[in-house]
Amino acid sequence: MSVESLFPRLEALLPKVQKPIQYVGGELNSTVKDWDEATVRWALMYPDAYEVGLPNQGVQILYEILNELPETLAERTYAVWPDLERLMRAEGVPQFTVDAHRPVRAFDVLGLSFSTELGYTNMLTALDLAGIPLSAADRGPDDPIVLAGGHAAFNPEPIADFIDAAVLGDGEQIAIAISEVIREWKSEGEPGGRDGVLLRLAETGGVYVPRFYDVEYLPDGRIKRVVPNRSGVPSRVFKHTVMDLDEWPYPKKPLVPLAETVHERFSVEIFRGCTRGCRFCQAGMITRPVRERSITTIGAMVDNGIRESGFSEVGLLSLSSADHSEIGEVAKGLADRYEGSNVSLSLPSTRVDAFNIDLANEFSRNGRRSGLTFAPEGGSERMRKVINKMVSEEDLIRTVTTAYSQGWRQVKLYFMCGLPTEEDVDVLGIADLARKVIQAGREATGSRDVRCTVSIGGFVPKPHTPFQWAAQADHETVDRRLRELRNTLRNDKQYGKAIGMRYHDGKPSIVEGLLSRGDRRVGKIIQAVWEDGGRFDGWSEHFSYDRWMACAAKALDGEPVDVDWYTVREREEHEVLPWDHLDAGLDREWLWQDWQDAVNDVEVEDCRWTPCYDCGVCPTMGTEIQIGPTGRKLLPLTVVS
Ligand code: SF4
Repeated sequence: MSVESLFPRLEALLPKVQKPIQYVGGELNSTVKDWDEATVRWALMYPDAYEVGLPNQGVQILYEILNELPETLAERTYAVWPDLERLMRAEGVPQFTVDAHRPVRAFDVLGLSFSTELGYTNMLTALDLAGIPLSAADRGPDDPIVLAGGHAAFNPEPIADFIDAAVLGDGEQIAIAISEVIREWKSEGEPGGRDGVLLRLAETGGVYVPRFYDVEYLPDGRIKRVVPNRSGVPSRVFKHTVMDLDEWPYPKKPLVPLAETVHERFSVEIFRGCTRGCRFCQAGMITRPVRERSITTIGAMVDNGIRESGFSEVGLLSLSSADHSEIGEVAKGLADRYEGSNVSLSLPSTRVDAFNIDLANEFSRNGRRSGLTFAPEGGSERMRKVINKMVSEEDLIRTVTTAYSQGWRQVKLYFMCGLPTEEDVDVLGIADLARKVIQAGREATGSRDVRCTVSIGGFVPKPHTPFQWAAQADHETVDRRLRELRNTLRNDKQYGKAIGMRYHDGKPSIVEGLLSRGDRRVGKIIQAVWEDGGRFDGWSEHFSYDRWMACAAKALDGEPVDVDWYTVREREEHEVLPWDHLDAGLDREWLWQDWQDAVNDVEVEDCRWTPCYDCGVCPTMGTEIQIGPTGRKLLPLTVVS
């Protein structure tokens, strides 16, 4: 049965909203397939505004891969701003895709990619606008399967009531496998209905279906156990790992946005995974092992992506791009290839060493030497040992001296506040470091025209990291430390004017902490916040801490737990954590040992270059970390005009 475009009805509303172009679709490389020729239809959602959602690599990759399958189609949908939401409600226009403006409810799967938990309320808006019941238990045969992915899906318990399923890890292969399960189930006449297809997915062990697991609690509020309530459903769900990135050189046809977006460049992911072992970094832990894309594929992807999109900026992405074993050759090869053209290259990288400056110098051949960014993360040497960020003050000063003496004028340093075991002195150490950076810059250049900006984020303990047991710092402590740091910098007559400071208050981190380490009881809070008008929680102008706290107090009334219990409470070793049945490949005992090492200021090395320290990932995946050098070349060398 054909599905009609909602565009004529939507078009009438567009003159009345801000940035209407974000809703019209038709971008270069977007795809509209024939509805009737597809058997399995996906609506892919990044639950934020178009300007944030469109550049998302995960969504772009899945969009392309699914549309390449003969019997499958995929379209995209984004969170609509409150002005359009109001009009859509008034006029009865449902949530739509931007590709063919089809109603989201008509699709078989609504796949949501959550990079952050602050998108949860936007998911509820989309479900409600689509006419899909918020509660998975209330959905019928005509509703899509609501499927969550992305890093936040490694603990989907707070949204367990709203989603039908979740997938952990890389999406490329599992999206195809899920499409095949749905196609088969449909071709057999949809046996067992909605439960039937969810059961087939759950039985694979690679799709988590929350309704097939019961959570039992202890009288004090902790979890007693999580157990499957259906036979055939495994007690643990595994994550998906694409082992050979060269076989998946996506995106091949990058989407080129019509409206302004946060990144307007073509990005190539040069490797996945990270073994540096920074203890605060969930991405580094859950994406292990390291899998490098070969220099040949990187070269071909850059060449192809520029031709297909017309972008003139190329970003080489990964968690720590300078760590690619052939990054020197990649940087030089690309810089040679595009020298004198309008193509600029960027390497978002945070490693603190001179090699990084060489790379930055290569990449700035076509542009200006403006700013360089490094991430020491902790303000004191002790703090950096606790978080396993092995950067000494000496390394940092040596690196910035090189940078300033080679013509760079601005250095940006990233830090976190509220880290486990942190004391006031650790945060004030940020001011000392920044002063020394400016001093080194002035000496190296003989000029006072050097600047340093310190950017400070609130630390949030995340599941599947050694800090999953840690007490989060309360927002009063974080705010007080940041105020003291600000005053110290302001009062510094000699260096203060050369140092900028950017930070956010500590309240949003508490909400993020609640959602990150929450369990199924937190779902009631999310729904209450949404019903009270909560939208776009990742945007400071929309976020309301007071609303979250008021809704939490009401929703948890009568429960033995509260917001503090979820956030500022330290967990015991054997407490059952809400995500313990979701397997990121990391050995729980190793994580606990690493947490103990953190508390005792003991560091671990990067296992890429030193012996394995048994985090558990490689044996679980039946693999080894994959790095070069391969001795291969950066080809093809197409001349770009
Ligand atoms: S199993 Fe060993 S080699 Fe593999 S990621 Fe963990 S520590 Fe590194």
